[in-house]
Amino acid sequence: MRDLQKIYDYVDAHAQEYIELLQKFCRQPSISAQNIGMREMVDLILEELSSLGVSVDVVETSGNPIIYGELEGVNKDRTLSFYNHYDVQPPEPLEEWKSDPFAAEIRDGKIYARGATDNKGSLLCRLCAIRAFQEVYGELPLRIKLIYEGEEEIGSPHLSEFAEKYPERLKTDGFAWEGGTKQINGPLEVSFGVKGLLYIELRCRTANSDLHSSNAAIVKNPAWRLVQALATMKDANDHILIDGFYDNVKAPTAYEMECLKTLDYKEDEVKQRMGLDGFINDLTGIDLLNKLYYQPTANIAGFKAGYIGDGAKTVMPGSAVVKMDLRLVPDQMPDEILDKVRKHLDKRGFTDIEVVRLSGEPPFRANPECLFAQTVVKCVKPVYGMDPEVLVSSSGTTAMYQFCHSAGLDAVMFGAGNVASNIHAPNENIIIEDYIQAIKMAATVMEEFANAKES
Ligand SMILES: [Zn+2]
Repeated sequence: MRDLQKIYDYVDAHAQEYIELLQKFCRQPSISAQNIGMREMVDLILEELSSLGVSVDVVETSGNPIIYGELEGVNKDRTLSFYNHYDVQPPEPLEEWKSDPFAAEIRDGKIYARGATDNKGSLLCRLCAIRAFQEVYGELPLRIKLIYEGEEEIGSPHLSEFAEKYPERLKTDGFAWEGGTKQINGPLEVSFGVKGLLYIELRCRTANSDLHSSNAAIVKNPAWRLVQALATMKDANDHILIDGFYDNVKAPTAYEMECLKTLDYKEDEVKQRMGLDGFINDLTGIDLLNKLYYQPTANIAGFKAGYIGDGAKTVMPGSAVVKMDLRLVPDQMPDEILDKVRKHLDKRGFTDIEVVRLSGEPPFRANPECLFAQTVVKCVKPVYGMDPEVLVSSSGTTAMYQFCHSAGLDAVMFGAGNVASNIHAPNENIIIEDYIQAIKMAATVMEEFANAKES
């Protein structure tokens, strides 16, 4: 086995180089939703990959290309794949940033930039680990495959196309997903799955335009229609009342409940950070975590109707719209839930409410007991000095299902961010020390997985 300490020493000695590389990546905007800087970002990645000797194929799609790369390693019978994305969320609202979102300014040991954590830090920590092996040993412990997409933040519309077209490129022994988080000064999180998502709009129109509000006496108000419909979908205890909504929800297994005990969820800190008096139903401990990670949601994301400007305006809206995101857990499927929402509303006389599906993503969970998952879990303590939090499913959503389900991949998520990285929000940042540790973690996983044996 190669001596990992030599790799760690190399990483420490070259930390400045790695930091500058991340700053360079962050300074290139790559906003998929606004189609800004995408080609330039691809070129930057290709430059880096070519300096590492990666054999690359840029797979064009009708959107942004998917960059696929391979590197040979000593153990030719074991492959490790890294999936990441090179697009970022829009930086708005700009006025809430303390420094330019693409300046990658360093303050208090952190790099502040859109994409610093999500996902450029996560992408680069793996490439930096590859470079460390090449520089120290002139070789990699195992074969590496890289899959970088540029549309993750807009729902990965071309990822399944790639998966169908190149099934051999998905073949692997270990699949490291993007993302992943860490407690500040606390444990790294290793997770094996994500919730699904159904995003819908409920639309109601009762008149062809807004009306004088005296008409409220005789004309149905679309906002009230939506409020009444919404009130049938959830009770005061946060139980979702959509007919059959929980039919396919799998109860957590004993192992899954056990994993909740590894989580270091600081309830008071979270309450303080979010400005909360308490959690729904005053939940706490395992019950709170069970709800957060293993239960589905039906969230009202936005409500638009009538006049909400300053002062009074006696108007009656002609139409109203509600946006809802429903986070799903195994084995709920987006189209199944969409169908249930429709039937639920019809049965209660809300046939005048249109249900429009904006996006859908099934939930996914890998087998937490597979060799790769167990290897990643074992690698955490030597690098971070403490055991990981083992999260069977994240409370969020990515496109894991489209990629992993049909290919039978067991994806494991671990990365470079932390719980206060502000991903998708103003002042996104990465703690430089976390980034450097994430490079060591990626290197450790490469080495240990190259040598890991099925027990
Ligand atoms: Zn993101």
